[in-house]
Amino acid sequence: MAVDSGVSSPLGPPACEKDAKVLQFIEEMTKNTDSVQEKVLAEILTRNANTEYLQRFQVFGAVDRETFKSKIPVVTYEDLKPDIDRVANGDRSPIFSSHPITEFLTSSGTSAGERKLMPTIADELERRQKLYNLLQPVMNLYVPGLDKGKGLYFLFIKAETKTPGGLVARPVLTSYYKSEQFKKRPYDPYNVYTSPNETVLCVDYYQSMYAQMLCGLLMREEVLRVGAVFASGLLRAIRFLQLNWKQLSQDIASGTLNPRVSDPSIRKCISEMLKPNPQLAEFVVKECESENWEGIITRIWPNTKYLDVIVTGAMAQYIPLLDYYSGGLPKSCTMYASSECYFGLNLKPMCKPSEVCYTIMPNMGYFEFIPHDPVNPIQLSRDSPPHLVDLADVELGKEYELVITTYAGLCRYRVGDILQVTGFHNSAPQFKFVRRKNVLLSIDSDKTDESELQTAIENATALLLPYDTTLVEYTSFADTKTIPGHYVIYWELLVKDPSNSPSDELLNQCCLAMEESLNSVYRQCRVADNSIGPLEIRVVKSGTFEELMDYAISRGASINQYKAPRCVNFTPIVELLDSRVVSVHFSQSAPHWTPERRR
Ligand code: AMP
Repeated sequence: MAVDSGVSSPLGPPACEKDAKVLQFIEEMTKNTDSVQEKVLAEILTRNANTEYLQRFQVFGAVDRETFKSKIPVVTYEDLKPDIDRVANGDRSPIFSSHPITEFLTSSGTSAGERKLMPTIADELERRQKLYNLLQPVMNLYVPGLDKGKGLYFLFIKAETKTPGGLVARPVLTSYYKSEQFKKRPYDPYNVYTSPNETVLCVDYYQSMYAQMLCGLLMREEVLRVGAVFASGLLRAIRFLQLNWKQLSQDIASGTLNPRVSDPSIRKCISEMLKPNPQLAEFVVKECESENWEGIITRIWPNTKYLDVIVTGAMAQYIPLLDYYSGGLPKSCTMYASSECYFGLNLKPMCKPSEVCYTIMPNMGYFEFIPHDPVNPIQLSRDSPPHLVDLADVELGKEYELVITTYAGLCRYRVGDILQVTGFHNSAPQFKFVRRKNVLLSIDSDKTDESELQTAIENATALLLPYDTTLVEYTSFADTKTIPGHYVIYWELLVKDPSNSPSDELLNQCCLAMEESLNSVYRQCRVADNSIGPLEIRVVKSGTFEELMDYAISRGASINQYKAPRCVNFTPIVELLDSRVVSVHFSQSAPHWTPERRR
């Protein structure tokens, strides 16, 4: 029920007093986009005035945009890597930030095959929390009654490591879930989870997922929304239920917890809530033993009003499967964030996936935009700095690459995301996430670019040499029809001596050789998270890639400029390739991965 708080909001009537304040804050920030941005930049430049980085570029304590823009170069991770390595190796001097670097956040973006390390400071945690605090009040505008039940969210922490200099390196969500902000969050009736903290805070994926699923089943009638951070994570939970429902229902029937869940704090908290419930166990068996899993989410959790998962960007490929399992429930994409900085939120979280746009909150960092024209990309050079557009000045309909300056000390850093302006809330622009630059293949949080794929191909094809066999052409496809999804690589081979052709066994080894060459995020998804299945090579008939070219030319491609695509997702092309497959091969074992970085 909406309150008459005296503070109305153009976004809609707030659900409670606390929400009214939050909505008011959103209004204030978005009405004053440019002045908030100016203030944020001045704050960042003031507090970091004595850092080595700002001094290197002779900012001399200036806090105005003109000086900042004329002196500070626009950079990528590779430009910063030498300084980041110094911090990682133990240099505690103020290189990027006047505040001490508390830890590194490991991005899913990689550099030289390893996760990028993003230095962060203590108060960034509060800033992230500030953005999280905006989400629920906005959701309450669209979905009433969320205080009458719970959210079943599948949340996980991952392994962390230490850098040679002793700083912890871990993903941003692991850092957040392990923080006091999360663990001791004040009770909010609109935001109650079925998963106790203990089940989230267990690094063993099986135990954590098992316990969270069990809690979700025990509280099935209270569940009002089901979610995970990304769509792939929610589908993995469904797959987990498919594989483990028998054991889960036995636990529910007997009131005892599966001994494979050995974490003492999980066992303690589950034992307090698990009592024999044969009726519920029978229900779970009845629903799960059926071959037909269509609508399983709404059958098991009948009061679910929506799915809370990101389905924008690379996750859009999962929409059909989510619709299948949920009977087409609305999917809400609430926020847009990264390890480097949390950016903003979706002010209409119940809109269709195709209409999702994120409003960047001007208080989160200082944002600039490189106009993006895929046909004529801007060349960035230090001698003639390009004109970057400010947040308040971006134009409707145009595409831009996002550049950020953060409190933690990243200055004019290219995130690698391409965004399109689709509207404004007050003076704050709203962006559609178009894509991440240079990502060819992605199943989960992995991002494989063209050169990584090329290197993997070269390493795998080296195994063909003794067989006098060469690779004529290749392309790839992210197959997400199965859970987990997997990479498919189409190979056209030229076997020069049919009496000495590569064996099945050898082609299986080629699959593994490719996986060994892919970046550490891919290998972690494959090994530790099981969120990517074994890589598959499909060998196609000789002449297939020529047919592909004919097809492209028949659709208007220029014969002179034609290059085989390194990734395909257009259904007729995938079908053409599949119809020419002569043999299929899979990795027979998992590639190497440990939390430690390869040096
Ligand atoms: P990471 O550095 O691993 O935290 O990943 C951050 C990246 O994930 C962003 O730069 C985006 O490319 C992507 N991302 C984050 N939020 C969204 C979203 N809501 N929709 C699409 N992509 C997103």
